[in-house]
Amino acid sequence: MFSVRSAFIRGLEIGGKAPVRIQTMYDRPFGAESVDEILRRISSLSAMGCDLIRFSFRSRSDAPYFSEICRRSPIPVVADIHFDYRMALLAIESGADKIRINPGNIGAEWKTRKIIKAAMDSNVAIRIGLNSGSLPEGEGSVPERMVQSALGYIDLFESEGFTNTVVSLKSSDAEETVEAARLFAERSDYPQHIGITEAGDSVISAVRSAWALGRLLSSGIGDTVRISMTGDREDEVVAAAELLRSVGLSGKGVRIVSCPRCGRNTFDTIGFLKENRTRLLSLDRDITVAIMGCIVNGPGEAGYADYAITGSGDKASIYRKGELVGTVENENAAERFFEVINER
Ligand code: SF4
Repeated sequence: MFSVRSAFIRGLEIGGKAPVRIQTMYDRPFGAESVDEILRRISSLSAMGCDLIRFSFRSRSDAPYFSEICRRSPIPVVADIHFDYRMALLAIESGADKIRINPGNIGAEWKTRKIIKAAMDSNVAIRIGLNSGSLPEGEGSVPERMVQSALGYIDLFESEGFTNTVVSLKSSDAEETVEAARLFAERSDYPQHIGITEAGDSVISAVRSAWALGRLLSSGIGDTVRISMTGDREDEVVAAAELLRSVGLSGKGVRIVSCPRCGRNTFDTIGFLKENRTRLLSLDRDITVAIMGCIVNGPGEAGYADYAITGSGDKASIYRKGELVGTVENENAAERFFEVINER
C-alpha cells in the first residue's frame, strides 16, 4: 500500500485517509440548457455517488454560467482548461474549486506560474492532467515519460510553494495507464486521479476500466476515479461506484442484484431496471436490492437481499429480509416496492 498526502477541494479531502472519490465530466456546453437544469442533474449525479463534477471552461462567455454553478452546486466544481492560461485565471475568479490543466499545453512557463499563484491566493486545487496523446517526444516508454513530466511539473508547482495538487496520467491503453500510475506512486506521494481516457462506449469502457483501475485500486493506488465513457454520465457514476464496491473500497449505497431475464420471466427485470435504476441508486441507504424475473432464483436471492421483487405467476412478489410482504399486479410493482423500501 502507498501512503499519500491530501489535497482539499472545497473542503473535500482527496488522498490521505479519505475514501476514493468519484467524478465525472459534464457532457454539454454552457448555454445548451438552463443553469437550473444543470444543477438538477448535478444533484441527481451526487445522489448516485458522484463527489466532483468537471466542466469544460472554453471562453469568457462560459464565466457567468460557471460562476453560478460553482455557487449553487452541492458538490465541488472543477474547470477543465486547455491552452489559454487566461481561462484558468477566469475560472478561478469565477469560483472554481479546482482546475485541471496540462501545463504542457499552456505554453510559456510564466503562464503556468500565474495560474499557480492565482490558485494559491484563492485556495483552489489544481490537477496536473497528462494524457499520453499530448506527451512531448522523448526518451523512454510512454508511462516513464508521463511520470517524468508530472514530476517536473510538481517541482515547478513546489517552487511556488503550491502543494494542493492532484495528478492524473491517462492513456487509452489500459496497460500504459496502470504502469504510469504505479511508477508515479513509487516516486511521489501526491494523490492520483485515475481513469482510462477515450475508453469507448459504456460496455467497452466499463470492462476496460474495471480491468485496469480495479488492479490499481486493489493495490492502494487511486484517490479519485472516473470511468469515462462515450455514453451517459450517470452510467459513469454507476460504474465507478460499482467498481469501488467490487474492490471492497465502499460498502455504501444501494447494491443491485438482478437476473438477466430469460424465457421463464414473468416480471420484466430489464424494463424495471431501465425505469427505476436512478431512483434506486439515489436512495440514501446502504442496502442490497434484488430484482428477479421468476421463482427459479427469485425467492432464493430474496433471502440474501434487504429488499427483493420477483416474478411469481402473473404477479410480482415483494420481500423484505427474505420475508414475503405481499404480491401485487406487475403494473403496480414499482410503486409498492418503493413504498416497502421506504417503510423501513
Ligand atoms: S430468475 Fe427466472 S427469469 Fe431470471 S434468469 Fe433465472 S430463470 Fe430466467
